[in-house]
Amino acid sequence: MSWEQELRAAYRTPNDLVQAGLLSPEEVIQAGKVSLKYQFLLPQYYANLIDKKDPHCPIRLQAIPSFEELESRIEEMKDPLQDLQHQPIQRITHRYQNRALFHLTPNCSMYCRFCFRKTLLNELKPSLFSGTWKEAFQYLRQTPEVSEVIFSGGDPLMVGDEVLRKVLEELEAIAHLKRVRFHTRVPVTFPSRVTLELSESLSSTRFHPVVVTHFNHPKEVTLETRRGLELLKKRTVLLNQSVLLRRVNDSIDTLVELSEKLFEAGVLPYYLHQLDPSIGTGHFFVAEGEGQRIWEGMKSRLPGYLVPRYVKDIVGIPYKSSV
Ligand code: SF4
Repeated sequence: MSWEQELRAAYRTPNDLVQAGLLSPEEVIQAGKVSLKYQFLLPQYYANLIDKKDPHCPIRLQAIPSFEELESRIEEMKDPLQDLQHQPIQRITHRYQNRALFHLTPNCSMYCRFCFRKTLLNELKPSLFSGTWKEAFQYLRQTPEVSEVIFSGGDPLMVGDEVLRKVLEELEAIAHLKRVRFHTRVPVTFPSRVTLELSESLSSTRFHPVVVTHFNHPKEVTLETRRGLELLKKRTVLLNQSVLLRRVNDSIDTLVELSEKLFEAGVLPYYLHQLDPSIGTGHFFVAEGEGQRIWEGMKSRLPGYLVPRYVKDIVGIPYKSSV
């Protein structure tokens, strides 16, 4: 089956999950209410990693809508990193002086329940994604201080291979650009998309691309994901960024195992990210003190190169801050 066919076969409504034995008829009512506000998509591959007997399965918590998404807390925001206030033109976020985010597509292989761009991919989608790529290229051409383009959420690897090549060719022609980086959950949630053709497309220009995967739990590092990472690591620099998530990976054992498995798969742990305060994600929040305790524990059990930096975004500071 091609990845396009697999995508068509993904679960798209909570009712699909009842048939798959992942939700009870009682639970589906609440999940249905959540999916009216925040879209739902779950590839069968990722759904198959869910332990049906465990209501707190870390894969389930990341993938299946929960009523907790409808509870908002006072500190939560629709656009916690102020993407829209740092938007010189639609599809571009220019927050850091020499790096600009390019939002190629609002599509993702799965809609992660913890996503900090949750509102920007739903209610505020037109504000970020209405502009054309042409205008985005024009902005990058006219902004010489930008040396790196970071393709960020939605998921850039949901764009087809030929189109990705063309996007990279456009950027290659801009002399002041030195690097391109892709932030993606595709190798984690939808590894069949990671093909030889994709890795050739990513590396088809003068750039030596950086791919930052977003693995959060060791259960996500499977034979299928390793096959995809094998293809990517021949042509790209592979790093991983995890988000610290309550009940998913807020334990020393889990994160130590994740770092070890990533290293075996050829990926270096780069960031452990404090969750940004986005509306609908508060149930995943881990207090910084607890995060510090976990991170210290990781340091005592891993060599330095397998300990990711524990960081957070602070609005107004033009780089990631250590927690
Ligand atoms: S793939 Fe990334 S942008 Fe898309 S829903 Fe998941 S976390 Fe958000």
